[in-house]
Amino acid sequence: MQGKIIKGIAGFYYIYAEDGNIYECKAKGIFRKDNFKPLVGDNVEITVLNEEEKEGSVTSILPRRNSLIRPAVANVDQAFLIFAMENPKPNFLLLDRFLIMMEQQKIPVVICFNKKDVGEKKEMEKLYEIYTGCGYCVVLSSTYEGEGMDEIREILKGKTTVVAGPSGVGKSSITNCMQGEVQMETGEISKKLKRGKHTTRHSQVIPVEKNTFLVDTPGFSSLYLTDMKEEELRDYFPEFVMYEPQCRFQGCMHIHEPGCAVKKALSEGKISQQRYDNYLALYEELKEKRRY
Ligand code: GDP
Ligand code: ZN
Repeated sequence: MQGKIIKGIAGFYYIYAEDGNIYECKAKGIFRKDNFKPLVGDNVEITVLNEEEKEGSVTSILPRRNSLIRPAVANVDQAFLIFAMENPKPNFLLLDRFLIMMEQQKIPVVICFNKKDVGEKKEMEKLYEIYTGCGYCVVLSSTYEGEGMDEIREILKGKTTVVAGPSGVGKSSITNCMQGEVQMETGEISKKLKRGKHTTRHSQVIPVEKNTFLVDTPGFSSLYLTDMKEEELRDYFPEFVMYEPQCRFQGCMHIHEPGCAVKKALSEGKISQQRYDNYLALYEELKEKRRY
């Protein structure tokens, strides 16, 4: 029988199987010798050992489409990044850091600004313009007023989506809203996963419907860019990449170079000053990091 690893804790993998049940499988076995580590999100083949207790054993891992390093998840289609308009106010440097990390890992991002009900209209329009202008899909939502929920459901349909964002922005509220009919199954998941409650929080896959999965990640308050040279950073700002071919110098960093098309677009208001300032700040941070 096939299934998906929805969680791995303390020597066990929990598999959401085709029959709608969750099987507990010991992590030891065939993987050790190959030095191959299964990830949450991996699709696997299992053998049921005890139908009553829903215990089984993973016999093989099906080919991986991709795997993310942060968070460590396999077979991801997209990331759904949630920030709130208020309580807490968005930290745009943190938001841009996340976008860069996903650009680096080639994962498309949908940005959601939640708590629209307490947001200022002008501010929301501005944010919508900035980030759609960079090529990202942007959703304004309110779980309180049920706004944006159908749009989000469409975006998630048939995909495996990493849900990320700082604490308190409404990640659980939106996730709960998406679950709807499968509440029962997730009730069963939490029962099975009770033993994991006190261990450090890892990523977990939440089945929403057939072929639709959410990956719940721990809320973050800081992110550090790693494995990246400052010269690479510009490649992860899609709006810079659009203008780059028109820069006078090949390999333009868009900082001090004359004839820079990115700086021209910035002065004409076609590139967001806030995004550009974050680029400069992160460029310096990466340069600084390399010095030590
Ligand atoms: P998480 O920490 O990201 O999972 O956030 P929660 O889903 O736990 O929500 C944090 C707080 O924000 C709770 O008090 C929610 O009731 C509240 N909240 C969630 N969605 C909205 C919304 O659309 N509007 C407003 N005003 N508050 C919301
Ligand atoms: Zn340039």
